[in-house]
Amino acid sequence: MMKDQLQRFLFEDFQIRGEIANADSSFSEITANHNYTEEVSNLMGELLIATTLLTAMLKFEGKITVQLQGDGPVKMAVINANQNLVLRGTASVDGDTKGLSFEQLVGKGHLMISIAPENGERYQGIVALDHKSLSACLENYFKQSEQLPTRIILHANSKDKMQCAGLLLQTLPAKDADIEKHENNFQHVCALAHTLKAQEIYDLEHDELLFRLYHQEEVRLFDEQAITYQCSCSTERCLSSLASIQPEEILEILKERGAIEMHCEYCATDYRFEINDLQVLLVDTHNQQH
Ligand SMILES: [Zn+2]
Repeated sequence: MMKDQLQRFLFEDFQIRGEIANADSSFSEITANHNYTEEVSNLMGELLIATTLLTAMLKFEGKITVQLQGDGPVKMAVINANQNLVLRGTASVDGDTKGLSFEQLVGKGHLMISIAPENGERYQGIVALDHKSLSACLENYFKQSEQLPTRIILHANSKDKMQCAGLLLQTLPAKDADIEKHENNFQHVCALAHTLKAQEIYDLEHDELLFRLYHQEEVRLFDEQAITYQCSCSTERCLSSLASIQPEEILEILKERGAIEMHCEYCATDYRFEINDLQVLLVDTHNQQH
């Protein structure tokens, strides 16, 4: 059964929060129509789960973008998400990716996390892609930006079926002054999480999985949130971006090519507009000029 859910949890006795997510159908949809190799698909799956887990950084309504840019065959890979866990993403690939590791796929480059609240200031954080895995790069991001210690586990499988899942553990500011005890608790919780096999995170229900790991601790599991894949492109959006082009220029292209073609890099949808589809746009602009 495919699962697309994120669940947050809290250790009642430690200042530690957690999140667990599975996004199997979103993973299928985000990689559909792209002809990615297994290696690139898995990278997209991990990035999809990572972005989902990081939406907690959005304190209010807005968008978060996690992007990899490097000099490997995967020039760019990006996932956008909003606070309601609606996601889309794409990768730009040039060259052979068969059998390559994460480091070989992305090469030297950067990991960028951008946060754009609907009301408020944009924020962007950048860290070098200099670790063996995406999760290690993200953990390094939290370390470098002097945020709370964070552990991230990511898994994706696109070989036999589409499955991706992950876990995030993060310390909260310690209430008491016993920093050492706090750190020990965090190490303990993380060590247990690392005993999980990928298959267990793919298959187990979240409550079952947390019980298996932390039955000796008091864990509060919050309501699940659905993860949805949806591209934001549409005919209306294409038309509104065409509205910024001079009508004369539009007519010129139509005369030359018979239609205006647009392509969405995210979902690989092709849009085609002939003169009849653009009439409104041409008339509107025409009227404004008089
Ligand atoms: Zn699209």
